[in-house]
Amino acid sequence: MALLKIARLGHPIIRGKTESVSKEELQTPEIQNLIDSMIETMRDANGVGIAAPQVHSPKRIIVIEVSPDNPRYPQKGLIPLTVIVNPTIVSQSDDYEQDWEGCLSVPDLRGKVPRSTSLQVSGRDRDGNPLEFEAKGFFARVIQHEVDHLEGKVYLDRLPDMRTLTFSREYEKYWKSKE
Ligand code: ZN
Repeated sequence: MALLKIARLGHPIIRGKTESVSKEELQTPEIQNLIDSMIETMRDANGVGIAAPQVHSPKRIIVIEVSPDNPRYPQKGLIPLTVIVNPTIVSQSDDYEQDWEGCLSVPDLRGKVPRSTSLQVSGRDRDGNPLEFEAKGFFARVIQHEVDHLEGKVYLDRLPDMRTLTFSREYEKYWKSKE
């Protein structure tokens, strides 16, 4: 387990292709260590999610967590640590909601992104057991953001209005209190 360097926008892996993780591969120390390191790196950076390409790995793995002491998204409610291997969004609602997003690979910026408010998700947990669940609200938003990373997409690609793009300091000063 180790803190990993986070790839930023411009590094080719952020726009690259990813590969599924087989059940056999998932059991290897390499992949289990990668998952532990992704969790550690996400927590260290105060992120609420991280996808493997963001730590320079092309594997289809995402981890998500909102802990009580996360200073970046204090008002969004808690999400227990969730590891999804080979995540698939099986279906998503036609209801959209616009809200602020940031990204560890696009440091210091936020913008308003429309996302489906509920999803049906499938995949595997880190032990290889099948996962199938419904996600709503902020949890659904974070899953869509992280699954986008596995397709080489970042939230900037989905901004309907570039004028919402805001640096963190200006977000804190002008926008945060209005939410
Ligand atoms: Zn991101």
